[in-house]
Amino acid sequence: MKKSKETWIAEGESAFYKTYNRFPVVFERGEGLHLYDTDGQEYLDFYAGIAVNALGYGDKEYTDCLKEQAERLLHISNYFYNTPSIEAGEKLTKAAQMDKVFFTNSGTEAVEGALKIARRYAYNKDGGHDHEIIAMKNSFHGRSIGALSVTGNDHYQEPFKPLLPGIVFAEFNNLDSVKALFHEKTCAVIMETVQGEGGIYPATKEFIEGVRALCDEHDALLILDEIQCGMGRTGEMFAWQHYGVKPDVMTVAKALGNGVPVGAFLACGKAASAMVPGDHGTTYGGNPFVCAAASKVLDIFQSRNLTAHVREIGQYLWEKLEEVKAQYDIVADHRGLGLMQGLEFTVPVGPIVANALLEQKLVLISAGTSIIRFVPPLVIEKADVDEMVKRLKKAIESAR
Ligand SMILES: *Cc1c(COP(=O)(O)O)cnc(C)c1O
Repeated sequence: MKKSKETWIAEGESAFYKTYNRFPVVFERGEGLHLYDTDGQEYLDFYAGIAVNALGYGDKEYTDCLKEQAERLLHISNYFYNTPSIEAGEKLTKAAQMDKVFFTNSGTEAVEGALKIARRYAYNKDGGHDHEIIAMKNSFHGRSIGALSVTGNDHYQEPFKPLLPGIVFAEFNNLDSVKALFHEKTCAVIMETVQGEGGIYPATKEFIEGVRALCDEHDALLILDEIQCGMGRTGEMFAWQHYGVKPDVMTVAKALGNGVPVGAFLACGKAASAMVPGDHGTTYGGNPFVCAAASKVLDIFQSRNLTAHVREIGQYLWEKLEEVKAQYDIVADHRGLGLMQGLEFTVPVGPIVANALLEQKLVLISAGTSIIRFVPPLVIEKADVDEMVKRLKKAIESAR
């Protein structure tokens, strides 16, 4: 007999270490922009597994590549070269206009690597350990102790203190607050180019240019976390390319593998040689399987001109969400870039997101308590936006 959803959920809850409150849906399969649960119900996906599944589900060219690589070679360790990682490395450094890349298993690990570059860079200068990193309030960089230490969220940090020493927090998009924290021992600034988790706040041009100038003045590294906003999501391959402000170090993950776990940190100029052999490593990171996936994803971005598509559909989504904002007085603000947009409500969005999922069969995600985040697969079309808006409006109305 087919197991019921309730049985699956009960078994999951009995096995899993409980750190998530999950929605009562068990997904089984994806196809294009749709997900199917164990009851065979179809859902429209405007969430992409948290901005991961850029190509939607089951893209044939991508899936064929995974199958081939699975049969050829999965893993070999970094004591040897492997061809997919060399190809992915060349393509990614080129797309990112960076000199060097290190492949990781997740976004968090990419952030860890970036922080180690910053500390190593400072150590190379004076051998001291008393260097400071400026991070931003309302940011998100991951859950390991290092990444959590630069995540400006008291709620996430509090139970795990003491965290890394030497981290101070400025206000995002407030240049004076960054300036006030800079001193001769500042070795880096880390921030998202577009804050994701914190509620979809793009950096202002003035802010990111100002931070770049401060870093230059103090010989500090600018680390841009592009884990969520990178990989074409905003309509440029990396969000900083909108501003023309180049980081010394950047982090990538999420859509890089389109679903296989792969991230990377990249560096250019002086930051590209700050760490030396023996300073950093990983067993899985950059293995042939995940790198074949990343390499194929980068090819597909080129061959299908996905960034141009994102700019076009992003503009359409913008117009449609402006209409939603005009229609409902509980929508207070609308922000974003490309296919990374947010609607801020004057009420908690939990009931709307739950209604969208369970009644309208529309998968959405919140950011904080009052913001709905739109990070769909990048391959959506205008008709999908229309369908999403139709379901969203119903969800807003029945959750009121
Ligand atoms: C998701 C995210 C991370 C963490 O990535 P994981 O793969 O979950 O470890 C870090 N930074 C940003 C901006 C993110 O959105």
